[in-house]
Amino acid sequence: MKHLHFIKRGGWKGKQARSIWRMAIIWKRRATYCVYLTGGRKAGLLLTAAIFLLCHNGIFGRSLHPKVPPYPEFKVLILYSNTVEPDHVDFKRTAIAFFNGLQEGREFDMDTSADMETLCTKRLSDYSLIIMLNDFPHTEQQRIAFQQYMEKGGGWLGFHVAGYNDASTHWPWLVHFLGGAVFDANSWPPVPAKLVVEAQGHPVTRTLPSTFISPSNEWYRWKPSPRLDSNVQVLVSLSDENYPLGLKDILRRGDNPVVWTNKAYRMVYINMGHGGAIFTDATQNRLIINAFRWLVSRDPKGNVFK
Ligand code: ZN
Repeated sequence: MKHLHFIKRGGWKGKQARSIWRMAIIWKRRATYCVYLTGGRKAGLLLTAAIFLLCHNGIFGRSLHPKVPPYPEFKVLILYSNTVEPDHVDFKRTAIAFFNGLQEGREFDMDTSADMETLCTKRLSDYSLIIMLNDFPHTEQQRIAFQQYMEKGGGWLGFHVAGYNDASTHWPWLVHFLGGAVFDANSWPPVPAKLVVEAQGHPVTRTLPSTFISPSNEWYRWKPSPRLDSNVQVLVSLSDENYPLGLKDILRRGDNPVVWTNKAYRMVYINMGHGGAIFTDATQNRLIINAFRWLVSRDPKGNVFK
């Protein structure tokens, strides 16, 4: 027995619901029968029917209507740190809430961990996607585990500092994975910026306008630009209209990709991820959901959305 589900009128699909004496609606959600009681003189009888159906769920645990398609089932691992700079922790908090919202109804399993060591302790092949919110692998073992996962067809959605690397990082594979991108400079303080959608028609940018204003973020410049790697497809970049971008630390005119994919891997990097405002824009949220869905859909184990 999963649950007795109460809903508002209109919250069920007519084809799947049956009404009893206009006082109860019975419908099916996944492998569970749900009962909505409106009360009245026959409520006791209806309650008996409800209990019968719920016991049926518990005994048979399967659908009497096999035509109802199942929800997609897959696993996602979200990794983050709580000991990084406060603005990055703020982003993590809003990101977890955002992805929790996508997971509403438990359509997929979402594991979260504040410990990068999870890369070494979990069976990564179980996950369709690993999301890194505000950190990257640090130890040799963590880096090897992540590299092997990606080289075997793993999926990665990395935000902001998840792609950060400089002369002190000492991880050449990460630079290769990002299409040669090495952190060069950033804007400061966090400001909104106009973004250009370069690859309209790509599954990640489909439904997006040609430009949009992205909420406040600390913007990175990469040198060399990942665009120089023939395997990289730049999906979104900073518009020339932004420059000079920033007040204290200023980015000047140049090629500044902010979202890209390295086609040699199942990955998308998104530069947004500084502060608590990232998920306040519907267009940008659409972009993030598109990237999430595209990466999961290309899991070598099969497309769960088909
Ligand atoms: Zn930042």
